[in-house]
Amino acid sequence: MSNSNINFDSFDREHLWHPYTSTIDPLPTYKVASAEGVRLRLADGTELIDGMSSWWCVVHGYNNPVINEAIDQQIHKMSHVMFGGLTHDPAIQLGKMLLEIAPPAMNNIFYADSGSVATEVAMKMAVQAAVSRYGTHKKTNFVTIRNGYHGDTWNAMSVCDPVTGMHGAFGTALPIRYFVPQPRSRFGGEWDPEEIKPLKATLEQHHDEIAAMILEPIVQGAGGMWFYHPQFLVEARRLCDEYGIYLIFDEIATGFWRTGRIFAWEHAGVQPDIMLIGKALTAGYLTMSAVLTTKDVADTISRGEAGVMMHGPTFMGNPLACAIAIASLRLLQSQDMSARIAHINEVINQAIAPASSLRGVADVRTIGAIGVIETTTPVDVGQFQRRCVDKGIWVRPFGKNVYVMPPYIISDDDLNHLIKSTIEILAERQDI
Ligand SMILES: *Cc1c(COP(=O)(O)O)cnc(C)c1O
Repeated sequence: MSNSNINFDSFDREHLWHPYTSTIDPLPTYKVASAEGVRLRLADGTELIDGMSSWWCVVHGYNNPVINEAIDQQIHKMSHVMFGGLTHDPAIQLGKMLLEIAPPAMNNIFYADSGSVATEVAMKMAVQAAVSRYGTHKKTNFVTIRNGYHGDTWNAMSVCDPVTGMHGAFGTALPIRYFVPQPRSRFGGEWDPEEIKPLKATLEQHHDEIAAMILEPIVQGAGGMWFYHPQFLVEARRLCDEYGIYLIFDEIATGFWRTGRIFAWEHAGVQPDIMLIGKALTAGYLTMSAVLTTKDVADTISRGEAGVMMHGPTFMGNPLACAIAIASLRLLQSQDMSARIAHINEVINQAIAPASSLRGVADVRTIGAIGVIETTTPVDVGQFQRRCVDKGIWVRPFGKNVYVMPPYIISDDDLNHLIKSTIEILAERQDI
């Protein structure tokens, strides 16, 4: 197996932390010199078709001329001004565009720095609103479903899956949340009414301690790449209303057409009280997220003890990030995205089908612009990625999930090559 493409940089290896890596035995990193369209260009000239959209952000491809131009325009006006006491057109314009596409109940927008921070803000909103609404500090806990992922900061970690998430490493340092099983009824399959019972039982027993339920609608991302039945959301909404519990949809991964709808709640038709967006919001250019909520939640917070929403990041509403988000949204609005994603899904479906008969494959599933091959045993990421680079693709599996989430601009040829090569690499596996 050739290692010629690995650009071991000794400084990088000795001094720079990468996501979830060991300093003693780090996975190799590949040095990227530039990127264009769906291609990452490595320092030695090797080109890789990006199947990850750089962790699900880069929907319009790299070095996009329209977004580059929007940045250029904005940077010569101002890159940043504080949002305390000041406002600006990019924040206002983006806000208007977001409310046009958000669930109709959404009315107030909080701009935050990253997905994890959005989760923190959403959880703080729910607690502040619940305390104000019920006049007690007792109803401040959370319930969620297993196999979820909501980010790496403290409260976000506390609602990540207790097994596949980060609970083990932090033990009792994390607040204890209520977990109910992940719905196993598949998206596009039959709904099993039994699946709502654990949530019903938990709420019946503990509703007076719970401020909100948080979950990723339809697609659970980094917690296991699972697609579940929309009826779970319908039932969860009904139970949350019955027990006076806010419902938070984390659409950070699912937003902006990834699942075939502009947001995943549309598959179920039930709206949240609080919704988080991030990742593709800024098309992979800058970090920004937003927390949207109803007028009722916003005003309930403002009538509460603190009288204000208790959060205010330094880089809140960053004008450059807002300008990028506006340009990205305009690009999405200039196309028939529903047809575009349906087409991508068709290509993924056809190309990925042969994976089901591979040894060591447990399940193959797709939704929108996502294709997942679930293996029976965890994949050796270092080994897998070496072969990806040999074959000119970039795919980064985690655990038993080998998946593609390509930029929406990918050509059919590139998408076919990406998936075909992924399957070939899986077929070579010696570790099963
Ligand atoms: C990625 C992700 C987050 C965290 O976002 P960061 O920007 O990495 O902090 C939260 N929730 C979901 C569903 C995500 O996919």
